[in-house]
Amino acid sequence: MDLFEYQGKDFFARYGVPTSSGSIVRNAADAGDVADSTGYPAVVKAQVQVGGRGKAGGIKLVGSREEAVRAAGEILGMNIKGHVVRKIWIERASDIEREYYASFTLDRGEKKYLLMVSAKGGMEIEEVAASDPGAIVRRHLDPIDGLSVEVARQVVEEAQLDEVAREPAAQVLVKLFDAFIQGDADLVEVNPLILRPDGSIHALDAKVTLDDNAGYRHPEWEAYRADMELDGREALARERGLNYIGLDGTVGIIANGAGLAMATLDVVSQVGGSAANFLDLGGGAGASTMANALEVINTDEKVRSVLVNVFGGITRCDEVAKGMVEALGKVELKFPMVVRLDGTNAAEGRAILREHESERLVVEGTMVGAAKVAVEMAGKEAK
Ligand code: GDP
Ligand code: MN
Repeated sequence: MDLFEYQGKDFFARYGVPTSSGSIVRNAADAGDVADSTGYPAVVKAQVQVGGRGKAGGIKLVGSREEAVRAAGEILGMNIKGHVVRKIWIERASDIEREYYASFTLDRGEKKYLLMVSAKGGMEIEEVAASDPGAIVRRHLDPIDGLSVEVARQVVEEAQLDEVAREPAAQVLVKLFDAFIQGDADLVEVNPLILRPDGSIHALDAKVTLDDNAGYRHPEWEAYRADMELDGREALARERGLNYIGLDGTVGIIANGAGLAMATLDVVSQVGGSAANFLDLGGGAGASTMANALEVINTDEKVRSVLVNVFGGITRCDEVAKGMVEALGKVELKFPMVVRLDGTNAAEGRAILREHESERLVVEGTMVGAAKVAVEMAGKEAK
């Protein structure tokens, strides 16, 4: 789960990483009171899960109530790289002496954690990596050793943080590492990590990805989850217990198994189409799961055709076919459907579907063949 900046700051604060407190506002009219209580200058920040908000005009410093309301009005509703701003965060503005960068991630290849620190914060780290790779210090951390304050001191020195910043930055890095480990995050990134004129180090931004597999030991994450903005399709899919991710294309995808679902997306794109979603039925794809999947895809305005790709293993294709026929009796589809069945009892499964075959329900023998038909159908439907 990716957190919004304000959630990331709440997460940081739990582990002692210094951040500014602030409030979330959803209507420009509320921004005045919130900014008044924060004090001026304040900073009004778009809450969207994408970087580069500053450059896009989604972050504004304000010196008065009037300015706060105006800035909030401008930022709310703004579209930043395809993300519509529905919430803004208002905090007391910080004075910035310097902007640094710090992050912890998991390096799966090395089987270690990776700490990255740079004295060149504030700009996108990918840019720094491209133009001045030497300015980013990388240190792999053994999970057994963790991060000692001594190692943190070495890293900030190597990264040539300003001398006054080094000791406080090393202390903050240790806390940030605590947040990363105890908080079960896959990523914590602070850009910029700032040095203030008073010599303190402070997280001005927060990018956090939590490891969903650890959710069971973090009841406090429920509040983050409740505040997530799922699109309508994803909300319905979650309600129905489906493993679904909404995408922007026109071909709805239903497959069993995450690997097959991914491969199906690839094949659709290979034959010139675009997938509307990822959907993994999981094992035991019976009639109700299939009906739920079709219902979710049916709510997607962009979908023009749907491709069902099932490989029978323990799940038998004849069972899937029966489930599909039953589901089609419950859900009135807005689009034509192509089905490819293979694996255990595929012939029996196809025979069941053939009895119901029409222009709106086509059975294909191969994955590529099915993808081609689905993409063609989507093209025709769009006209
Ligand atoms: P991003 O553009 O999405 O990464 O958003 P950030 O939260 O990192 O903010 C972008 C930039 O806005 C920062 O690098 C700062 O230069 C500026 N900024 C954000 N908050 C403050 C603040 O409290 N005071 C000042 N002076 N600048 C700020
Ligand atoms: Mn940032």
